[in-house]
Amino acid sequence: MLENKKMEFWFVVGSQHLYGEDALKEVRKNSQTIVDELNKSAKLPYKIIFKDLATSADKIKEIMKEVNYRDEVAGVITWMHTFSPAKMWIAGTKILQKPLLHFATQYNENIPWKTIDMDYMNLHQSAHGDREYGFINARLKKHNKVVVGYWKDKEVQKQVSDWMKVAAGYIASESIKVARFGDNMRNVAVTEGDKVEAQIQFGWTVDYFGIGDLVAEMDKVSQDEINKTYEEFKDLYILDPGENDPAFYEKQVKEQIKIEIGLRSFLEKGNYNAFTTNFEDLYGMKQLPGLAVQRLNAEGYGFAGEGDWKTAALDRLLKVMTNNTKTGFMEDYTYELSRGNEKALGAHMLEVDPTFASDKPKVVVKPLGIGDKEDPARLIFNGSTGKGVAVSMLDLGTHYRLIINGLTAVEPDEDMPNLPVAKMVWKPEPNFIEGVKAWIYAGGGHHTVVTLELTVEQVYDWSRMVGLEAVIIDKDTKLRDIINMTTK
Ligand code: MN
Repeated sequence: MLENKKMEFWFVVGSQHLYGEDALKEVRKNSQTIVDELNKSAKLPYKIIFKDLATSADKIKEIMKEVNYRDEVAGVITWMHTFSPAKMWIAGTKILQKPLLHFATQYNENIPWKTIDMDYMNLHQSAHGDREYGFINARLKKHNKVVVGYWKDKEVQKQVSDWMKVAAGYIASESIKVARFGDNMRNVAVTEGDKVEAQIQFGWTVDYFGIGDLVAEMDKVSQDEINKTYEEFKDLYILDPGENDPAFYEKQVKEQIKIEIGLRSFLEKGNYNAFTTNFEDLYGMKQLPGLAVQRLNAEGYGFAGEGDWKTAALDRLLKVMTNNTKTGFMEDYTYELSRGNEKALGAHMLEVDPTFASDKPKVVVKPLGIGDKEDPARLIFNGSTGKGVAVSMLDLGTHYRLIINGLTAVEPDEDMPNLPVAKMVWKPEPNFIEGVKAWIYAGGGHHTVVTLELTVEQVYDWSRMVGLEAVIIDKDTKLRDIINMTTK
């Protein structure tokens, strides 16, 4: 299992010496209370540490240098308790290389109308400090996040929590390593891209291997290991031989287990956390990896088919952000086009991510009309429902573009007993017709990463962190805006 690294966020509070030591003591106390309360009750994915008060340029620079240097620190949350003259933030903010959230909150929720005096105002002037500090971030083009509201408010806390997940993904992105078995599928355009640029902009390492390297690793797998995993399957899945001879079924499933163990071992040795396969490049393999891929997806490995390394890396990235929940590689396959009931059926030829499963997966062996190999084993299940996002990344030659489409995954209209793969059904925003049009105009690929655990805003926040062009297709999208933006 690929565990998310332990990370923490530093809380840095803007203030100044103008109002004396007593005021600073109060600021420090308030800051600690907020941090303790957030850690205790805000359901945050990572811990916040109250680092210090920022009252001088030297102090701020010292903190930011340490943030950059320490691997465990994923980002900085700043709060302007009192007015914080922002020239002192310039040097430190300029060198900060990690995500920054400006928490525009105030210690007290209400204005004490009857008792408020100038002393109160001088201590509680976040409104003032937020603007001074925001100006410097805007001028430095910091691409920081701004969250506004009372810090005990659950909705406000959720926005902080959502951002922390994205920031952790940003940090983890530097460690995404994709192993590609074979090249891209021949003749396919959208899966191509500039790997050097991807490494510069997103931190992704993409390494090529011949499929023979995997076959060699599979040859080392012992029959005992295979049998042991097969026994575990009996609890985890429904073993469904269907019309197959039981001995043939078991042999085919065990061949996928051999691929799985070989793959995992290969990836672990090279420290890879994502991979691609290509059904055109299977020399020495008996089956296309299906069940094997799905089992590794369940452990957190990013994946995409047909050599699509961009989508595989993106899959791993979103799996970090979601802690590997309801997130995986997906392909737009088939439409339901009856008016008012339009939807898209998503699947792949085998490798649909089991983190989407809403029922106990079945292990099934069926022929595959593609790749010209033996009948592969795969997990079949129905997908989950709920709101989510489909994401596609494309290389336009001049720059990368990220397309982010809000969606709602829904129940299929009917069972699909003859469909030999796992599947999901969804409706894109703002509605099916406009959503699909916008996606096509913007050049979005057929391969996507779908997640039911992130919002459009979270994926957009990541695109801002890495300076990536984002096309958002959601409930507010006007088709003409998309066309204007993408054809200028
Ligand atoms: Mn595909």
